[in-house]
Amino acid sequence: MINSSKLRMVDIVGNLNLIKDKISVACSRRPPEFSNVTPRLVAVSKTKPPNLVISALDAGQHHFGENYVNELVDKGNHPDIKTRDIRWHFIGHLQRNKVNKVLAVPNLHVIETVDSEKLAAAIDSSWLKFRKLEDDKLNVMVQVNTSGEEEKSGCDLGQTSALVKYVIESCKNLNFMGLMTIGAYGYNPANGPNPDFLSLVKCREDVCRELGLDINNVELSMGMSTDYEHAIELGSSNVRVGSAIFGERPSKA
Ligand SMILES: *Cc1c(COP(=O)(O)O)cnc(C)c1O
Repeated sequence: MINSSKLRMVDIVGNLNLIKDKISVACSRRPPEFSNVTPRLVAVSKTKPPNLVISALDAGQHHFGENYVNELVDKGNHPDIKTRDIRWHFIGHLQRNKVNKVLAVPNLHVIETVDSEKLAAAIDSSWLKFRKLEDDKLNVMVQVNTSGEEEKSGCDLGQTSALVKYVIESCKNLNFMGLMTIGAYGYNPANGPNPDFLSLVKCREDVCRELGLDINNVELSMGMSTDYEHAIELGSSNVRVGSAIFGERPSKA
């Protein structure tokens, strides 16, 4: 009972407007080196029903994120969603045997969670079967395990340059878009800048220096509901916000 009434009460338009305001304020607090970037808000709709995605689309939201393959497939193919101007971000751990399912999703915009050469190679070769236009490259980000926690996916910090190099040089059907991290949960920004975010910023500097890339062409995907403003102040260009838009998710028990 409590859950269903909560679902009905969620004010998606109000939440989106509030978050956009907070993003603008966070942007104004950034150091000048980051001030030329307009951060993108990705609405993370995992565990939420298609009608809430449609409400957010109606409110003008275009970028959405999912981290379970089957949910992305279901929502992406929903008749009232696939015809809309929607751009899907896959943000979950991707197993190679699920790559084709993800690539077949209409309006797939980016896979943010490439964390190995094997996965990059599998996506690269399969994309040929799914792309709509010749030369149409699929956007990917490289996920970095900045917190070094074993249960987190992502490549090790020290392997990031090599993986980015592999994506750029050996995966002709992929467009390298940037770096992504999840980071340790529950960090309190009152204790100073989030070490995971600082570490991704530093990782980008290293990768760009080592590979001769323009830092302006390498995005940073970091920040979620509790810390997206903080992440933007530290240079995030892509924040992934779920519960602050769609309401709390039932806890995984
Ligand atoms: C669930 C999830 C989010 C959004 O989390 P909220 O705390 O609900 O904003 C962002 N990124 C990833 C990778 C996620 O799995």
